[in-house]
Amino acid sequence: MSSGRKFAKAGFAAGFAVRRRRCTIIAAMAVSVFLPIEVSEAGWLSDLLQNSPKHGKSPTHVTSRKPATLAKRAASPKPRTAKLAAPGPAKPVATKCDPSKFRLVLDVGHTAASEGATSARNVAEFVFNLRLAQRIEETLKADGFPETRLLVTEGKARPSLVKRVAAANELHADIFLSIHHDSVPNSLLENWEFEGKKSHFSDRFSGYSVFVSRNNPDFKTSLAFAELVAKEMKAQGLQYAQQYTQAIMGRYQHPLLNKETGVYSYDQLIVLRSTRMPAVLLEAGSIINRDEELRMDSPERQGIISNAVARAVREFCDTQPVLGPP
Ligand SMILES: [Zn+2]
Repeated sequence: MSSGRKFAKAGFAAGFAVRRRRCTIIAAMAVSVFLPIEVSEAGWLSDLLQNSPKHGKSPTHVTSRKPATLAKRAASPKPRTAKLAAPGPAKPVATKCDPSKFRLVLDVGHTAASEGATSARNVAEFVFNLRLAQRIEETLKADGFPETRLLVTEGKARPSLVKRVAAANELHADIFLSIHHDSVPNSLLENWEFEGKKSHFSDRFSGYSVFVSRNNPDFKTSLAFAELVAKEMKAQGLQYAQQYTQAIMGRYQHPLLNKETGVYSYDQLIVLRSTRMPAVLLEAGSIINRDEELRMDSPERQGIISNAVARAVREFCDTQPVLGPP
């Protein structure tokens, strides 16, 4: 990318240290065979993934493992009332999720050293991510979810992926939500001058988008939470970014899983597929779009998004079957 903008390496971490079940390891190895490590042209989304030219074609059939607490809870297909009507010492009793114990990890996308995308006005994506994640954390804690954790990772892009996934796994989170702000592929950037400095923008696209990986060990629950986040964002009158299905996005194209709300799959994204709990990535809005950057910079928009996420968490917590004490 041209001078003044951040470069960031992206690549598939072939030696990824987090232990996975055999099926996942095999899947990862199979993918790595045809996915060489590359250097990304942009900091943007690619900080978080291996640069796969085939990311849209990765396996859709995933052997599901359900290691996280909610995943186990989600394994119960029976309605809560039916469970309650059939008590027994060895049988799980379904109860509502307890917000005081529910742990959402808010992953701040990118790091201070590897800041992700650069906005139209030359502000690092990391700055936007940190501010919004902090606002969401405050909102959730005020809303009765005191176990919410903010995850800020340091260091260069690729090692930070291992660190943030390991940290999330150690926190035994019920849900992992990664906060990002969107940009565009370099080929779509246009030049302008901001405060006397040569800068880049693209006003072509705007909107939020929500991503899940079909390779996450609990894709089903990941998708359920993603749908709630997307639904609540839409309920705020926000539009989702529709360009990810377009050919112009090149290798950044992604399958749209829900055309009503804007949930996409991004199967090889490391933070989505290597976390041992349901995981979702929210691109809260575009910061390369000049108008939307201003909106994303406003406390009003940050409040709207924080409330949308908090409502999604509340709804998720309320609707997930939970295994009670034996
Ligand atoms: Zn990002």
